[in-house]
Amino acid sequence: MNIQSNPETLAQAIPETMKAVVCHGPRDYRLEQVPVPKPGPGEVLVKVILAGVCASDGKCYDGAPKIWGSNDGQGRYIEPPITVGHEFVAQVVQFGEGAEGRDGLKVGDHVCSEQIVPCGECLYCKEGLYWLCEPHDIYGFHQRTPGSWAEYMVFPRKALNYKLPEGMDPEHGVFVEPLGCAVHTINRAELRFNDTVVIAGCGSLGLGMVAAARMKNPKRLIALDLHPARLDLAKRCGADMTINPREEDAVAKVKELTGGYGCDVYVEATGAPRAVTQGLDMIRKRGRFIEFSVFREAVTADWSIIGDTKELDIKGVHLSPYAYETAIRMIAEGRLPMDEIITHKLPLEEFELGIQMVIDGSSSLKVTLRP
Ligand SMILES: [Zn+2]
Ligand SMILES: [Zn+2]
Repeated sequence: MNIQSNPETLAQAIPETMKAVVCHGPRDYRLEQVPVPKPGPGEVLVKVILAGVCASDGKCYDGAPKIWGSNDGQGRYIEPPITVGHEFVAQVVQFGEGAEGRDGLKVGDHVCSEQIVPCGECLYCKEGLYWLCEPHDIYGFHQRTPGSWAEYMVFPRKALNYKLPEGMDPEHGVFVEPLGCAVHTINRAELRFNDTVVIAGCGSLGLGMVAAARMKNPKRLIALDLHPARLDLAKRCGADMTINPREEDAVAKVKELTGGYGCDVYVEATGAPRAVTQGLDMIRKRGRFIEFSVFREAVTADWSIIGDTKELDIKGVHLSPYAYETAIRMIAEGRLPMDEIITHKLPLEEFELGIQMVIDGSSSLKVTLRP
């Protein structure tokens, strides 16, 4: 267990420098000693309790064109050198000028902050679509928002912060960001009581989606994965049944269960191109296909299925808008077996091992780092 400090010691014991994992380039991440940031006006200094390693951290480490840019016109998103990390739970340490008491926070509180810090001024922010904010300052990628793979970090003035409730294991708070993304995914699916819902992929995100879909109580909630242990966890998160496509024909099985029609909702959360075509086969006419994954390569599918064949609604998902409160409540209510979903708590020094575990993906669910 992490040793939680009391408010007085927290505020007095702020050192001059701290450990941080700084990204300088693909495969060039360095553990460095850097100055502890000072909170400016409206800002909050927090001490990181646990930081998550996301699939996108693995892709960034590997030099994904989506993040680093490419010759065929994709711009560079990341602004190195930058302290990595957008998943975290932390403890409030110090307020900048005028920030005292913001978001109902006091020194010593356990806190999360949405991964994106919206500008509040762009077209999307003005439309209320703040998670699509054009400058797109996400912790761990942009200079304005250094990340959580460090002993301390600052929540900027425009950050969206959430105090965790008393009684919730603060370390479970590291799962609020991914679970928020899962909640947003299920919100996009607009579930109805009579729906047969298929969630493809039971990594930590997919498990969160199963738990979120369970709260909506559709007629039938089916989880798909290639790993039996993950399917067991999906059942504990609320799946009515599970299918392992390695062992049985998942498309045939879902059609059989639905009188030959197919599922009403298919959520793709595997990141494997095969799961896209599987979903297009498995879904009924007028079904809702929800795409969550980020793929390593372009996916090839018969586009006509969407229009002429099935008249599908295809919905994409990005980040976790308006979902943190629900995610926090789900964890506090014990709706997920958190101690089995957070499979690893590594010391910050072992960040490269953590990244490799996430890239490999076979022996871990949520991998976290302890600064
Ligand atoms: Zn993430
Ligand atoms: Zn904006």
